[in-house]
Amino acid sequence: MEQNCIFCQIISGEKPAEFVYKGESVVAFKDIKPHAPIHILIVPRKHIRSINDLEEKDREIIAELIFRAQKIAEEQGIAKSGYKLVFNVERGGNQYVFHLHLHLVGGWDKK
Ligand code: AMP
Ligand code: ZN
Repeated sequence: MEQNCIFCQIISGEKPAEFVYKGESVVAFKDIKPHAPIHILIVPRKHIRSINDLEEKDREIIAELIFRAQKIAEEQGIAKSGYKLVFNVERGGNQYVFHLHLHLVGGWDKK
């Protein structure tokens, strides 16, 4: 856990969030300022700053993030209509929270 990291604080329960999933290595909660009808953040429990800081031993975490995104898209009813999965990387890539997270956005055309 990293002091002053909002996502570490959410994961530890210190700060509130609307969770849709809590697993052993990954959690998912609703984005506080959604950019789409469905906007969920899928976040590893481990504090990793960004994609740039991934190590070989984190391979399983990335697999978990993507498979969880697939599952949540299905549960949210947007698998068929489609969605985007986005990693923002560092300031030039619009990253504002420096704890790795995968954005799941969609639901514009929920069918
Ligand atoms: P990024 O720009 O990739 O770093 O995305 C960070 C995202 O976290 C933004 O979409 C924010 O709206 C979202 N966010 C920031 N604080 C919170 C919070 N306390 N709970 C839920 N989402 C948050
Ligand atoms: Zn953190």
